[in-house]
Amino acid sequence: MTQSFRDKLHGEGYRLTRERQVILSFLETAKGHHDAVEIHQRLRINGHRISLATVYRTLNLLAELKAVERLCVEGQPATYEINGADQEGRPHHYHLVCSVCGRVMDMDPGSLGASMQKLEEKLPQTYDFRATGHQLTFFGVCDRCASS
Ligand SMILES: [Zn+2]
Ligand SMILES: [Zn+2]
Repeated sequence: MTQSFRDKLHGEGYRLTRERQVILSFLETAKGHHDAVEIHQRLRINGHRISLATVYRTLNLLAELKAVERLCVEGQPATYEINGADQEGRPHHYHLVCSVCGRVMDMDPGSLGASMQKLEEKLPQTYDFRATGHQLTFFGVCDRCASS
């Protein structure tokens, strides 16, 4: 858990309750994308007594505070992951979503030699718009679905 997030919670008048801490550390260690039902199940398996309603409520709050990122894909439950921008050493990434099975893959823009950061920097000159962040999702068919 990053100190900055603790401060942020505090600044917004929230406390780091046990539920919030448990869900955050789950997403930190589990990595990747998880929906509320899955997070709830995994926490129960690990012995945490937490209701599904609390998981939903906590995820909403954490998403609002940008501690976690919510990814919505039509026809699929929303998934959550630790906000990449807040994680040290983890680059900002984009998403590849399979329209057939709903699988979500993380894509590192650096792997393609492309940088969205550059685009963001150029926005003010061209559109007089100062970007504070961006989200990019590609939709398509994954390798598993393409080959079956
Ligand atoms: Zn697929
Ligand atoms: Zn992701």
